[in-house]
Amino acid sequence: MKSIRLKEGKERSLLRRHPWVFDGAIAKGVADAGETVRVESHDEKFLGWAAFSPSSKIRARVWSFDEAERIDAAFFEARIAAAIQARNLFDIQSDGWRLIHGESDGLPGLVVDRYCDTLVAQFSSCGTERWKSVIVDALLAQTGLKRLYERSDASVRSLEGLPEVTGWIAGAGDTGITISEHDWKLSLDVAEGHKTGFYLDQRDSRRKFAEYARRLQFQRVLNCYSYTGGFTVAALSGGAAHVTSIDSSGPAIERAKANVALNGFDASRSTMLDADVNASLRQFIKDGVSFDAIVLDPPKFAPTVAHAERAARAYKDINRLALSILEPGGVLFTYSCSGGISADLFHKIVASAGLDAGVDAFITERMGGAPDHPMTVTFPEGEYLKGLVLIKKPPVGAVFKR
Ligand code: SAH
Repeated sequence: MKSIRLKEGKERSLLRRHPWVFDGAIAKGVADAGETVRVESHDEKFLGWAAFSPSSKIRARVWSFDEAERIDAAFFEARIAAAIQARNLFDIQSDGWRLIHGESDGLPGLVVDRYCDTLVAQFSSCGTERWKSVIVDALLAQTGLKRLYERSDASVRSLEGLPEVTGWIAGAGDTGITISEHDWKLSLDVAEGHKTGFYLDQRDSRRKFAEYARRLQFQRVLNCYSYTGGFTVAALSGGAAHVTSIDSSGPAIERAKANVALNGFDASRSTMLDADVNASLRQFIKDGVSFDAIVLDPPKFAPTVAHAERAARAYKDINRLALSILEPGGVLFTYSCSGGISADLFHKIVASAGLDAGVDAFITERMGGAPDHPMTVTFPEGEYLKGLVLIKKPPVGAVFKR
């Protein structure tokens, strides 16, 4: 068994059970891609069993902090079983959910989503790549499912020196699937869609949005970065009179239209715009168009902390514009899925957007990823998705119309 020796003082994060070893922390030791190594402190004390990634800045990812544990097929079977069992404890309300969420489930570099009878897996580290066939066998055996599609096309694969791979590993057939989430149906395509096909992590927020639509009787709703129309369908199902959805992806817009029809909503209640959100928001301001509920769920502007400053400006911009076209008493659901933007920083960005727009607002909810995208106390990076629900205050001296 090969060993990786850390520099003095660099053992601290591992002692707190954080599973990443950065290249700069290593004093000596190399191994093959995905090979299991013994990570030890400068004075040779055991810290963890890890998978080596020769070309990644995250040079090793810890499988286990227990010296007695062996990294073999039984190890992966046990971790997968634990992840599946944990999902029985979570409130999910859908037949689409995340079965394995990387580090939080003790399997760094592995994401597995389940859409009805189909598993979709993403192997994004050398370690998971090396153990792929063991992982696939365990997933199929333990779920009893026959179809597994690989979506190893995330950009992080290139940081690991791994090529993009997609396609059926087990089973075959149609990659289009319709899931039942809460009270509605959503169609997706596991081969063509973003990520593994769908943004499962926003499930609880979609339900919350439907609840707000029902309680506050939304009339005009704007869903920005609507993808395949999840929040649109949620709002319509909550009784919203009309929803305008904006996305710059033509295929996403087409599927969003199909999802509105799939749920039996009249097309006259929905307008779909294949357009840029920022430009559209500016146009709405020019045209004097306002909304009484807005969703802002943009793509990842800051994948890492290094991108945070530029991303902060982009987040502030769209939030300022959205707050400007929101009616007093209107509701804004605003998100950041950037790992490089903390919840605290996101709050500050939204606050300064409000100041610039001359708008104050109540924060009525703090949102995060759905529970099948769990966070653990030892892996704070797991908190990538954060959201705020705001209710816009009327101008000073005025009262709410509602
Ligand atoms: N809210 C969605 C997920 C949004 S993902 C859901 O619940 O499913 C982010 C979306 O933003 C993607 O669909 C992407 O196509 C879109 N997008 C990215 N940049 C954009 C831009 N400048 N203008 C409009 N849409 C954009």
